[in-house]
Amino acid sequence: MILEILKKVLRVSRALFVKSPAQEDVRFTKMHTSSRYRGKHSIDYETCIGCDSCNKICPTGAITMKHLPFKKQNIVPEVNLSICIFCGLCEDVCPTKPHKSIVLSGGRYDMISGGWHKDQEDFWVHVDIPQSYIDARLEEEEAARVKKELAAKKKAAEAAAAKAQEGEES
Ligand code: SF4
Ligand code: SF4
Repeated sequence: MILEILKKVLRVSRALFVKSPAQEDVRFTKMHTSSRYRGKHSIDYETCIGCDSCNKICPTGAITMKHLPFKKQNIVPEVNLSICIFCGLCEDVCPTKPHKSIVLSGGRYDMISGGWHKDQEDFWVHVDIPQSYIDARLEEEEAARVKKELAAKKKAAEAAAAKAQEGEES
């Protein structure tokens, strides 16, 4: 009888004072990843050409294309990790060289912090483009447009002059 009571006291004390593995907050402990772990996405908006291939091939619809104000590259991918299955197809299909613009970079990420995220934003890989980059790209595109327009005008003037000379000679 006394032995039974002692055993019970021991069990209760252990339950009260010894942390079970399930109670440990593993977010900040070392992560032991499997060899097949590919990690979360890293997106390079500077090299992305906005071809939309990653979005088209994604089997779960985890990719949303963010609209950009540029003419040549007007979209860039963002990933919703809460529906991503980490298959890596988006990386495989990305055509940019020598580096792919979307890669599963192996970086650790926190999707196990209790499972009660009210804010699903925590599960997104967003692309934050600095305003200075946007301004520089827009200026570049405007300069290219003006250059093209001037070249077209010059060509038209030269053609008109050549036509007029032809008329004078005949
Ligand atoms: S890893 Fe797979 S599921 Fe996740 S975004 Fe890329 S293609 Fe979609
Ligand atoms: S496949 Fe690559 S280049 Fe094409 S939109 Fe996606 S990240 Fe950009």
